[in-house]
Amino acid sequence: MREVRVRFAPSPTGALHIGGVRTALYNYLLARKHNGKMILRIEDTDQNRYVPGAEEYIKDALKWVGIEIDEGPDTGGPFAPYRQSERKDIYAKYVQQLLNDGHAYYAFDSIEELEAMRNRLKTQKGANPQYDSTTRMEMTNSLTLSEDVVNEKIKSGVPYVIRLKVPASEEVELNDLIRGKVKVSTSQIDDKVLMKSDGMPTYHLANVVDDYLMKISHVIRGEEWLPSAPLHVLTYKFLGWENEMPEFAHLPLLLKPDGKGKLSKRDADQMGFPIFPLNWIDPKTNELAEGFRERGYLPEALINFLALLGWNPGTEQEIFTMDKLAAAFELERIGKAGAKFDIQKANWFNQQYLRSKTDEELGQILIADLKTDGIDCETSKANAIASALRERITFPKDIAELGKIFFIAPKSFDEKIASKKWNEEAIAVISVLKDELKKSDGLTVETATSALEKATQQSGIAQGKIMQALRLALTGGASGPDLMITMVLLGGLETSSRLAYALDTLGGK
Ligand code: GLU
Repeated sequence: MREVRVRFAPSPTGALHIGGVRTALYNYLLARKHNGKMILRIEDTDQNRYVPGAEEYIKDALKWVGIEIDEGPDTGGPFAPYRQSERKDIYAKYVQQLLNDGHAYYAFDSIEELEAMRNRLKTQKGANPQYDSTTRMEMTNSLTLSEDVVNEKIKSGVPYVIRLKVPASEEVELNDLIRGKVKVSTSQIDDKVLMKSDGMPTYHLANVVDDYLMKISHVIRGEEWLPSAPLHVLTYKFLGWENEMPEFAHLPLLLKPDGKGKLSKRDADQMGFPIFPLNWIDPKTNELAEGFRERGYLPEALINFLALLGWNPGTEQEIFTMDKLAAAFELERIGKAGAKFDIQKANWFNQQYLRSKTDEELGQILIADLKTDGIDCETSKANAIASALRERITFPKDIAELGKIFFIAPKSFDEKIASKKWNEEAIAVISVLKDELKKSDGLTVETATSALEKATQQSGIAQGKIMQALRLALTGGASGPDLMITMVLLGGLETSSRLAYALDTLGGK
């Protein structure tokens, strides 16, 4: 097998979409599986769409999710430079080759002329008039002008582009590793611009030339590029590189959670989840889009989630580290159908990865978050709280959010629960319990349990009847970790004083 060399080739036109992270991931997994190379190539030939900060953002995002780059603009490598704007001369050479071989031509048409052609042909040719074998001989180009005129125009600085001369009707075929055979007639393809009037190559030319020169073995990219693939195959042929052509794999789209249509930033905004890996401030509008990182997703959870959006291991296994993903990954197991972006599943992965952390690790997160709220917490207490809350959290910040109750006594009580559960029976048990617990601060689950037993027995009331009232008194609400553990973590005196406050406030002293 050919050495696996894959590339992630983003254009720095804004923040990296989560779908782009998945594309990068699939490339990376294939490289890792085969001990190949992962290349980052910045496709910045479209100067009009360049957005400052985007390249940095892309690199930071890849780093955060753990995708390592073997060759790229910062790492360097045998085929540097890896930023297309720095490779202008390289493309000029290959455009010249195409011109010499009669596969490309100069075109001098102005915007107005192109517009006029489209309007003229709209009526004659139907809906989709294009610059191609049927129209090129009516236009201002080196196929219709004499060589002298062409040279004169170029010399005098008349702006021009260079177009690919696509044959009238030939079949172009390619084998996509996900979609199988794709056949297209060249009559469907227009004479694409290869080199723009500013001397910069277009995506199509630069992409093909670089994939060839960088010895790319597999082109793995989004499905939106599938329509361009036949044009690329044609360009490989014209350049005489047919035997070195990479394999193609076009990835299915990421769909909205309901499966109806492509997932856009607007959809994600509306449904309240991020679409970018990291925070992004749009340089034009100054608007902040919150990233998965800042929302509290762990990179390993996000990666695990993204890997399974479109790919499946063929088993029931769901939890995969990056190493395990690389070992199991196969392009052939990527589905053709679009993948629904189910954010609940992403949350589930986040929970799993958070739960796999030790109490000490979670405790440290708690300590740090509490500190920002001005609350000090000892390590042993933090670890115990982490242990009590670990099953109830989705994001790291939830530990402090839920754990605050152990430091700040409730000032008010859920009215609905109070009206239902705060009754004479509850008051009777809680009054006894309050006095019982005042006696000693150090509580264990056993002593807390026996104090509660004593209180219920003494009042002759079944425990089950008053548990919600007890929770209400201790936390102000209706949910939280095990009540005995809650009492232990609060200590006897604090528990007793909270019960006294509840009795005062809700009545029943
Ligand atoms: N620069 C293209 C993009 O931004 C790359 C497409 C490809 O991988 O060929 O998506």
